[in-house]
Amino acid sequence: MVTDNSSDGLNAVEAMDREYVFGTWAYQSEVSPTQIVGGDGARFTDADGNEYVDFSGQLMCSNLGHSASAVEEAIAEQTREGAYFAPGFATEARAELGKKLAEVTPGNLSKTFFSTSGTEAIEAAIKIAKFYTGKDKIISRYRSYHGATAGSISVTGDPRRLAAEPGIPGAIKAPDPYAYGSTLDPMESLEYIDEMLMLEGDTVAAVLVEPVVGSNGILVPPAEYLPRLKEIAHDHGALLVCDEVMTGFGRTGEWFGSDLFDVTPDIMTMAKGLTGAYQPLAATVVTDDIAAHFEDNMFTHGHTYAGHPVACAAGLAAVETYESEGLIERADEVGSYLSDRIASLAVDHPSVGDVRGTGLFHGIELTKRTDERAPFGTREDKLSKGSTVVDEVAARALEHGTYVANMINTLIVAPPLTITRAEIDEAVAAIDAALEVADAAMEA
Ligand code: PMP
Repeated sequence: MVTDNSSDGLNAVEAMDREYVFGTWAYQSEVSPTQIVGGDGARFTDADGNEYVDFSGQLMCSNLGHSASAVEEAIAEQTREGAYFAPGFATEARAELGKKLAEVTPGNLSKTFFSTSGTEAIEAAIKIAKFYTGKDKIISRYRSYHGATAGSISVTGDPRRLAAEPGIPGAIKAPDPYAYGSTLDPMESLEYIDEMLMLEGDTVAAVLVEPVVGSNGILVPPAEYLPRLKEIAHDHGALLVCDEVMTGFGRTGEWFGSDLFDVTPDIMTMAKGLTGAYQPLAATVVTDDIAAHFEDNMFTHGHTYAGHPVACAAGLAAVETYESEGLIERADEVGSYLSDRIASLAVDHPSVGDVRGTGLFHGIELTKRTDERAPFGTREDKLSKGSTVVDEVAARALEHGTYVANMINTLIVAPPLTITRAEIDEAVAAIDAALEVADAAMEA
C-alpha cells in the first residue's frame, strides 16, 4: 500500500526534495522521502492516498493532532494583525503566553525566554545557568539528546555528539537510570553524579536531564530519582535543569515530566508540544530567583525571532486547547489503555525485550537474544549506513498503515493526545504484524 520509495520510484515533489533539500541526520544517498499531503486528527495521508495512524506524533511533537482548528485560526488571525514585531515591543499573545507558562509550570517557575527550537531553548538554559551561578561546567547524562548546535550537542550524551567533539569546554557526562539495559542500578547511578560533583569542586553550573529520557529509549526513573537529583545538585551549588522539550504538555500524563516526580527544577526547557508543532516555538522558563538576578545583571542573549508573535499566538491557543479539552487528563486516561495494549506485544513476541513508559509516552525495546537483552542495533549502528532490524519493523508497520518512530533499538510510541482507542487498536495491530520481522531475526 505504500509508495515505491526506491529513488526511481519518487514522484516529482519527492525527487525535487531529494535533490535540493538536505535530509536530516542521514547519508544523503539514503534519503528517499515520501510526500505527505495532509493530516487530520491522529492520521496523515501520503500523495498516493495512503492513510497512516500517526503513532509517534511525527517527531513526538504533534500533541494536538493534525487538525487543531483553534490553533490554526490563532495563527491566521495573528498573521493578519501583524506577523512580526521585534522582541523589544510587547505583543499580547507573547505576554499572555508567558503568564500562562508561569501558571502551568510547577512551583516558582515564572519567567520565560522564548526561542524557536528545543536546541535554542537548551542553549539559553546553558547560558542562563552559567550567568546566574558564575560557574561554567554542565553535567548531563550519556543516554540523552539535547540539541544539534555547538553547545546543545556538546551536552548531548548519545553518539550523535561524536561528530561534533570535542565540543564546548566543561560538558561532562554521567551515567543514567536505565534499568533494562545498564549494569548500574538507577538509584546507584545517582551516587556517581554526587561523587562527580564533589570531585569537580565548586565549578558546576547545572545538572541537565530529561525527566523521562526520550529519544534514547523512554527511560522512566524511579519515583525517588529526580527529587534526590535536585538535592544532590543543590548540595553542590549547582542548578537542576529539566529538559522538557519532548516530555512537556501532557506527553507523560502530566503537564510536565517534572510533575510526575513533584519536582520544580530551577530551569525548564520546552518546545514541541508548546504549539503542538503548529509553529516552531520553544521556551526556557526560570524561577523567581533566577529571574530577579537579571534585574541588575545584563541578560546577554536574544534572537530576531525571540517570541515571534505568530508562534506565540499558536502557543497560547495550544495551551488553551490542552486546558479546554482536558487533554492532559485524557493523556493519563488513554495512556493506561495504550499501556495495556502494548504490554500484550511483549507477551506475544519474543523479540520484545521491554515495554515501558508513562502517559502517552512508551518505548518498545527489542532484543535479538532475550536472556542477554542483546539489542538488534546500537546508536553507533544507526550512524553507519544501512538499516537495522528495528528500522525494518518500523518500515513494515508503515506498510500496515501505522507510522512509528524508532530510535536506536526502541520503537517510540508518542501519539497525539487526541488519539482514539480504536486508532490505538489499529496501530497496535500493525506493530503486532510488523514484529514478525524481529521475531524471525532473533538469534538462538
Ligand atoms: N531536547 C530534547 C529532550 C529533545 O527531544 C529534542 C529534539 N528531539 C531537543 C532537545 C532538540 O529540539 P529541536 O529538535 O527542536 O531543536
